[in-house]
Amino acid sequence: MKLVPFLDLGRLNDSIREPLDSAYRRVVDSGWFVMGPELEAFESEFAQYCEVKHCIGVGNGLEALHLLLRAYGIGPGDEVIVPSNTFIATWLAVTECGAVPVPVEPCIDTHNIDPALIANAISKRTRAILPVHLYGQPADMDPINILATKHGLIVIEDAAQAQGARYKGRRTGSLGHAAGTSFYPGKNLGALGDGGAVLTNDDAIAEKVKQLRNYGSKVKYQHDLVGYNSRLDEMQAAFLRVKLVVLDEWNATRRLIADQYSKLLADADVQLPLTPEYAETVWHLYVIRSKQRDVLKSYLEQQGVETVIHYPIPPHQQAGYRSGQKYHLPVAEMLAEEVLSLPISPFVTTSQVETVVCAINTFEDIK
Ligand SMILES: *Cc1c(COP(=O)(O)O)cnc(C)c1O
Repeated sequence: MKLVPFLDLGRLNDSIREPLDSAYRRVVDSGWFVMGPELEAFESEFAQYCEVKHCIGVGNGLEALHLLLRAYGIGPGDEVIVPSNTFIATWLAVTECGAVPVPVEPCIDTHNIDPALIANAISKRTRAILPVHLYGQPADMDPINILATKHGLIVIEDAAQAQGARYKGRRTGSLGHAAGTSFYPGKNLGALGDGGAVLTNDDAIAEKVKQLRNYGSKVKYQHDLVGYNSRLDEMQAAFLRVKLVVLDEWNATRRLIADQYSKLLADADVQLPLTPEYAETVWHLYVIRSKQRDVLKSYLEQQGVETVIHYPIPPHQQAGYRSGQKYHLPVAEMLAEEVLSLPISPFVTTSQVETVVCAINTFEDIK
């Protein structure tokens, strides 16, 4: 029996059923399904929320990053610095435009890219740094931006897991030259299907991405670029407008749940996530570490607690990257063996948190 599911999306959407229903009816009644008024409204609302000038809705998070790299003219012969431990889409975006992802290991405390290791990875082919705000916690952006300025590099944030997070008071998505984000259903701001967006203050890049997402076209049937079809449809934009209204409230609840875990697990024999001073985290994931991760995971499963591993295989050990270059990335490999994500969402209750904590503590007793 599942006492605590990892993520109950049904429950989440049920709590806003009425506004979702009326968004659905509004779009159906309008008869307009792609590139219409809902998209325009969402783009302007989300740009304002992220404190940037432009938001451009696209098909998904991978395409947001891919189109951005294209817009900056990054391609074959270029290198892009990426974290060694991330969801594979960060790497795929780089590969998709013909460039080479160059991995840099994370700080062991935060699991985010270690700025002190980036300088060593910069070559004369490097064009961009692509930091990820992993688990909803902002990467340490100031030293990254300083390095980028020094070497003339573009900084593109992968903000897919961090909608609403802040770094030194500023929103993620506004911290580099541009950002890509994802509205995959399980993200903090999730659609009822696929979706993504590009965020930037750069007028020229915004124009280019708008063109690239729509067949390379600015004027209908005139195609100035070899573009793509990657758009955020009206239905998803309308749903996202509903969810954007509750995003801060939901993120605040995630923060309360994370605080409860951190307090109640303080003496447990597991490594808890650390939040640096500069970070206002939105807890997309609450990730602990354990040397007995796999045994702990099955024990929790028996106790009715569902957990997930983000991620069991680092990108460089996946089929698509394994055969190429030789990598030495022991931190990413160690994390892949030790990380475990506990249930966290706006609808996890205090009693569910207690069930999880109690299960982790009894695991220690039986050990
Ligand atoms: C989800 C995610 C993506 C990709 O988003 P999709 O919308 O699924 O394509 C990219 N990077 C990170 C870190 C993610 O978590």
